Amino acid sequence: MPKARIVVVEDEPAIRRGVSDALRLSGYDVTEAADGAVGLREAGAAGVDLVLLDIMLPKKDGLEVLSDLRRSNPTRPVILLTARGSEDDRVRGLKMGADDYVVKPFSAKELIARVEAILRRTMKPVPEVRLVEVGGGTIDLHRREIRWADNTRADLSETEAALLKYLVCNRERAVSREELLSRVWGIGTAGLETRAVDMHVARLRAKLKDPAGEDDQPEAIVTVRAHGYMAGPALSVPEEVVATSAGKR
Ligand code: CA
Repeated sequence: MPKARIVVVEDEPAIRRGVSDALRLSGYDVTEAADGAVGLREAGAAGVDLVLLDIMLPKKDGLEVLSDLRRSNPTRPVILLTARGSEDDRVRGLKMGADDYVVKPFSAKELIARVEAILRRTMKPVPEVRLVEVGGGTIDLHRREIRWADNTRADLSETEAALLKYLVCNRERAVSREELLSRVWGIGTAGLETRAVDMHVARLRAKLKDPAGEDDQPEAIVTVRAHGYMAGPALSVPEEVVATSAGKR
């Protein structure tokens, strides 16, 4: 299992160092940020598994960082580091999508326990899907190709295959465009518009239409209004193996 990457956003040097050292001693890969602006950039970077976020920060306050992060990375786990007595901030933070909080002063032991609990929940193994059936065809996600019943084939681009895989692995729910951007493209929304997701979905949809099928085929990808997309009734997974190594959600 790869080392989890944790970003610590805290302006108080002694606390930031104490927290970071304790996490490193526990085997985590730690990036430190001393203000909210750097914190947001680091927290939104690709490959980050968890963010520890102070609320009172210079340049950008922690709740603002959280709000911006939720827009670019809706599922990235965040634990707030809060001052004693700031109950309003805690409640606001939790409502804005923070996963947990600790109250200062906290012990390294307590913090590590919270971190482990969140990571256990979010880094659970993801099923390894290779073959997906669509109408009269079979999609091989490893080879990135669709083979139809009459043996004609179509290739999928790397992004199309990753997009399809993400929707299939999360087929019990609708996935927002922002989540697709951060999970499939692996970056924050900076420089990329959610419109890029729509364009890729449109291209993928066209490829998933059985060329020999009827006009009114069941949908492979369903649009969920004002939200995003969901794997549709045309897609099914014949076999599913749970990966032995832990994957990221
Ligand atoms: Ca502070």
